[in-house]
Amino acid sequence: MRTLLLVLLIASILFHVPETWTDSRPLFNGNEAYTHLVQQCKFGPRPPGSANLNLCRDYITNRLEAFGWNVVFQHFTYRGVRCVNLVARWPLRGGDASVLLGAHYDTRPKADNDPNPTYRDRPIIGANDGASGVAILMELARALPTDVRSDVELVFFDAEDSGMINGWDWIVGSTHYVKQLSTERMKEIRSMILLDMVGGEDLRFSRELYSSKTLQDKIWSIAHEMDYDHIFLDKPGAYIIDDHRPFLDVGIESLDLIHYPMPWYWHTIEDTQDKCSRTSLEIVGGVLEMFIVGQAVDHIPKTTSSTSERTNTNDTENSPQLSPIHGLGPIMFQLLVAVAACVFLAVFQAEAKR
Ligand SMILES: [Zn+2]
Repeated sequence: MRTLLLVLLIASILFHVPETWTDSRPLFNGNEAYTHLVQQCKFGPRPPGSANLNLCRDYITNRLEAFGWNVVFQHFTYRGVRCVNLVARWPLRGGDASVLLGAHYDTRPKADNDPNPTYRDRPIIGANDGASGVAILMELARALPTDVRSDVELVFFDAEDSGMINGWDWIVGSTHYVKQLSTERMKEIRSMILLDMVGGEDLRFSRELYSSKTLQDKIWSIAHEMDYDHIFLDKPGAYIIDDHRPFLDVGIESLDLIHYPMPWYWHTIEDTQDKCSRTSLEIVGGVLEMFIVGQAVDHIPKTTSSTSERTNTNDTENSPQLSPIHGLGPIMFQLLVAVAACVFLAVFQAEAKR
């Protein structure tokens, strides 16, 4: 009887594998992301300096803070318009995040690509071109495992999409963001991934041509592992001026994930939430989550060895450290437990026979 109980006990240990290992699927939820997309659209068109964009900024900030992130406003003025980039960091062990995820949260002031000339002066809603990238960043802020959050900085760029209207340039917010980076901080950022038009129903990514090939390959191979070859197409796209460019210009490895060829409703009044899909958002968010978790595991020696170099010791004391056990796969773990259990059983039976 005692042997039976012991066997049951060992079996229960054997088959209890930590949740994060048995469930290798991402926690990113497309429904949650889609809710953030719809909410942004409800504010209406969100060009730089507008009241709608202020409301949207408050919405993003409030949600991120509710998830426990610190949000900093980075103010700048461009052609007399007050603009704001939002920078979100995980409060524990913050400041040295090696992966930067970005998206623009402003929308184009004019639908100048609309087939109907009478609509070309109207502002766009930007469900895909604006809200989709932001929605994914917001859901990642909730879904990312807490022990990898400090590896990530989330940046919401203002003033990306007003290029060639009233003398405006493109990518103004990201240009400002990169200008204020210290040389030290530039070295810390290993990867910058930009999300732009990532929620379309018929989502297709070609390989954007300015992007860093190594980083692009990493993302494409994760997507391949997850069976998303039909979305992450292995074919060249175009050279696109987007918020990743200022980062590339200072030597930071960067990637633009952008729907290409551009969807038919790009920069028209038809860029509305009905063209977007929960599934597309979930696919992109899931790939990014897997990438970040993988990066964190790769960097265990770096994060544990460099803690003494950091200036804010209080932060490092409170910080959740990645345990080296993360490096062991579930099978290895089960094997170890099985060996330990066998030894224990042998000793127990020897004792019982005495
Ligand atoms: Zn645009």
